[in-house]
Amino acid sequence: MLTAASMRNRGLLYGGLGILAVIVIALVAPSHGYYLNIMMQAATYAIAVVGMVVVLGYCGQISLSQAGFLGIGAYCVAIGTVDYGMPFFLALAVGVAVSGICGLILGLTTLRLGGHYIGMVTISFQIILTMVLTNWLGFTHGPDGISGIPRPTLFGVDLSGGNVYLGLCLLFLGAVTIYALFLKASQLGRAMQAVRDNDLAASTCGINVFRTKVIAFGISAAVGGLGGGLFAGAFGYISPDQFTFNDSVVLLTMALLGGVEYSFGALFGTVLLVLLPEWLRFLRQAYLAVYGAAVIAIIIFLPRGMWGLVTARFFKPGPIPAGKEAALPLLARQAVPSQEVVLNIAALAKHFGGLKAVDDVDMTVRRGSVHALIGPNGSGKTTLLNVITGLYVTTAGKVEFLGQDVTTLAPHDRARLGMCRTYQNIRVFRGMTVLENVVIGAERAGNDVSGIDATMERALAALDFVGLRDAAHLPVGDLPYGHQRYVEIARALAGSPEILLLDEPGAGLNLTEKGEMAELLKRLQGHGMTIVIIDHDMKLIERVADHITVLNFGRRIADGDPKFALNHPEVIAAYLGEPHRDAA
Ligand code: ADP
Ligand code: MG
Repeated sequence: MLTAASMRNRGLLYGGLGILAVIVIALVAPSHGYYLNIMMQAATYAIAVVGMVVVLGYCGQISLSQAGFLGIGAYCVAIGTVDYGMPFFLALAVGVAVSGICGLILGLTTLRLGGHYIGMVTISFQIILTMVLTNWLGFTHGPDGISGIPRPTLFGVDLSGGNVYLGLCLLFLGAVTIYALFLKASQLGRAMQAVRDNDLAASTCGINVFRTKVIAFGISAAVGGLGGGLFAGAFGYISPDQFTFNDSVVLLTMALLGGVEYSFGALFGTVLLVLLPEWLRFLRQAYLAVYGAAVIAIIIFLPRGMWGLVTARFFKPGPIPAGKEAALPLLARQAVPSQEVVLNIAALAKHFGGLKAVDDVDMTVRRGSVHALIGPNGSGKTTLLNVITGLYVTTAGKVEFLGQDVTTLAPHDRARLGMCRTYQNIRVFRGMTVLENVVIGAERAGNDVSGIDATMERALAALDFVGLRDAAHLPVGDLPYGHQRYVEIARALAGSPEILLLDEPGAGLNLTEKGEMAELLKRLQGHGMTIVIIDHDMKLIERVADHITVLNFGRRIADGDPKFALNHPEVIAAYLGEPHRDAA
């Protein structure tokens, strides 16, 4: 996690080092022959592998058509320069655009398809593309391929010399690698990682999951097209059998091997997989077996790839950002009793086939109140929260938030209006640090912060509020269970919600932790936060609730102030037929 200033410095540093490296490599590289070819292949493939890092490593979407995008870029350059006499760089730009658009279209299928199905779609796309390249003789020259692809000149400077062109490829590779690095630390990159780690939680943090996936596919494909276009110029000859499904698998393996979450990993994985077959040539027939075994071994023993190993070893988490004493805006407020309705649901129903999980429920939540939702296990509490936040489509009824009918709005649009929640089964973004998790909450569209520095301050303030600033740079999975619940709450608070919906925040906590949770809720209440809370712990509910709604078998059986609701005969019957002593 970086501030704007340190991002700039890092960019300059990497840029400078990159250009230096390019000059050195281009100077020592041979100007033609075998080794040059290997370096050309590694450089152009590595660009395409960076695309895999974006779509699979950042966004978690399996793509098995990267060789297809490589091919689209290569064919645009080949056909553009050879058949239409276009300048090289224009043809290259066309290649990037065409493959990028194909990637966006492929990404659109994620609206209806998720998980493994999207993998199948990309395989189909790859296979169809190979067929088109092979059989559309009039346009692609068919299986014979296209030869005589020229290398570029730029402003009269000839870039066709072997090591000069290699230098050009390396410059593009460096630019793409650094772009991917910055993308990862950007709001879009964080959104991608949130989608990868937990798409439901991402959506209720205000992230448009579908749009994020489509953009990831588009970027990945465009980058693949760039690698392909440069590949065509590197070898001067291309044919359909260079861009098949097998090659897509190789590109995937390169990404996994190097470390799919790291753009630098793409370089490592690619170089290794380009060189490995060359090194193993002396094995003759046994080559494929040894190659396969080596790849499997590396993937098993280095689950985060080679670059993952390097970062774990040499990049320790930085110091915790010094506390500019920014506070949550919430803390400036004092609770004042209000009759304003924040959330109103009317005749709400959610049926799963014949099961009426929520049936004809009315509920009104007023500003500044703590509204408890209780009921036996399976009575529909979580389902109700899912319908309110838009994760489930309503079967019937209406949800109004701040006077606006939101019944048909997507979860991220409801989050934008200020609806933030936590989950009964914790849903943190496991691949990210505590601070990054909370920053995603602070970046909620509609939250009044702008710029990474202000967003960071807000996130740190939220961590302060729950007492977790010291854990800011830890991977969130390293935290004990109870603290992960606080991370979820901090993530929601960082978004300055109009309403905070908590699904069993006390579940899984020990007695002390439960006491602390009650304290936290009291503090929130004191600052006028509007809260809906589900919990089984009656002591906790009694300490904090202003109003209680009781569900049983999906129906509302009582609604009113705590004394009234807990002593309602139907409630007593639902809770083992015993009146609740403390409430009486
Ligand atoms: P609670 O949170 O009050 O314990 P839930 O809302 O989780 O209860 O569940 C209410 C009922 O709805 C249960 O019978 C549960 O099995 C059912 N249910 C919840 N989610 C689904 C789903 N996605 N598909 C089918 N049934 C569901
Ligand atoms: Mg539940």
